[in-house]
Amino acid sequence: MNDPTVTRQTFDEVMVPLFSPAAFVPDRGAGSRIWDTQGREYIDFAGGIAVTALGHAHPELLKVLHEQGSKLWHIGNGYTNEPVLRLAKRLEDLTFADRAFFANSGAEANEAALKLARRVAFERHGADKVEIVSFAQSFHGRTFFTVSVGGQPKYSEGFGPVPAGIVHLPYNDLDAARKTIGTKTCAVIVEPIQGEGGVIPADPAFLRGLRELCDQHGALLIFDEVQTGVGRTGYFYAYQDTDVTPDILTTAKALGNGFPIGAMLTTNELAAHFKVGVHGTTYGGNPLGAAIAEKVVELISDPDLLEGVRLRGDAIKAKLAQLNKRFGIFSEVRGKGLLIGAELTDAYKGRAKDFLTACATHGAMLLIAGPDVLRFAPSLVMPLDDLNEGFERIGKAIEEVVGATAEAPSR
Ligand SMILES: *Cc1c(COP(=O)(O)O)cnc(C)c1O
Repeated sequence: MNDPTVTRQTFDEVMVPLFSPAAFVPDRGAGSRIWDTQGREYIDFAGGIAVTALGHAHPELLKVLHEQGSKLWHIGNGYTNEPVLRLAKRLEDLTFADRAFFANSGAEANEAALKLARRVAFERHGADKVEIVSFAQSFHGRTFFTVSVGGQPKYSEGFGPVPAGIVHLPYNDLDAARKTIGTKTCAVIVEPIQGEGGVIPADPAFLRGLRELCDQHGALLIFDEVQTGVGRTGYFYAYQDTDVTPDILTTAKALGNGFPIGAMLTTNELAAHFKVGVHGTTYGGNPLGAAIAEKVVELISDPDLLEGVRLRGDAIKAKLAQLNKRFGIFSEVRGKGLLIGAELTDAYKGRAKDFLTACATHGAMLLIAGPDVLRFAPSLVMPLDDLNEGFERIGKAIEEVVGATAEAPSR
């Protein structure tokens, strides 16, 4: 702790400057609390971007990490292992899926899903059915294929020609989908709630419409549940609270509670189009990650835990409503379970980062989703005392930003 040879300043000297991390350096965590290298304490509503769903240093996960860590970390896909087989069975028992492919991240899970969809269309219908339909503001990862499918052009511009056969439509616009989805469409990929894009839930009728259009035109429906999955919305997967079942589901983030692991889940029929050697990975499905994920899935699939997610989500929405009564800074609070977005009013547009920084100063960590939305994605088992104390800190931070704005000469 507090190693004088490396500080936040060191980041600017030794790291590829792709990120702009906070001024403090986290050192240690327990549950929903984090301590930085100076010993300052924070209450964590960010959850490492919707990842640490069971909080930091969870005792049962530590036990698995130590036990599996002293047995076998990695063996390669020339062999299988017991943890990965148990994990696949667990995920398949909980979902529509019969088959799993494991990767190391959300992007890789989506890469596999998109490649599978292209392969299925190729084998069933020939070389022309390649079109992938995606939605504006969506986020599917940063590999070149997934970032091109994602709906934020600024992330895929300036890297040369993007893969062909990708179409972007407005989200929640069924008419646009009806006009576009057709015989050339091989897949539609959609987030049940757009996470990075601003915490925007899909209309149930929109998802139903996409399902019908896919069925009509022999296209596959892919749900990207990398952010909404593993209990985040109060359901193990968000699709389970809709009347729509996808053909392929991708999951990552909370799946390993911070240990990198992702998965693509699908049916027997579709999985049969991926034959030996058609796709692969070195680390995916390693016994260490799989053992941890197996325990995560066991703990989070508990109905009482999922009920607790809905209760905590309601508690956070109530806190945000109280703050809004005092300060009038939110135009809308939306989301489900513990994926919540609070959109700033016109007077505070573009200033989400200012609120984030002020919260850190007052000892609370949260997220933004674009320049106008504060995002909350804490541990699914966050103690209510932490939640309440965290909101006292957030209240002080908001008071400070609002006060400073009122005093500042108008721009
Ligand atoms: C975070 C995220 C991804 C990318 O996951 P990585 O692990 O960063 O590759 C993909 N899709 C959605 C919906 C996400 O939220």
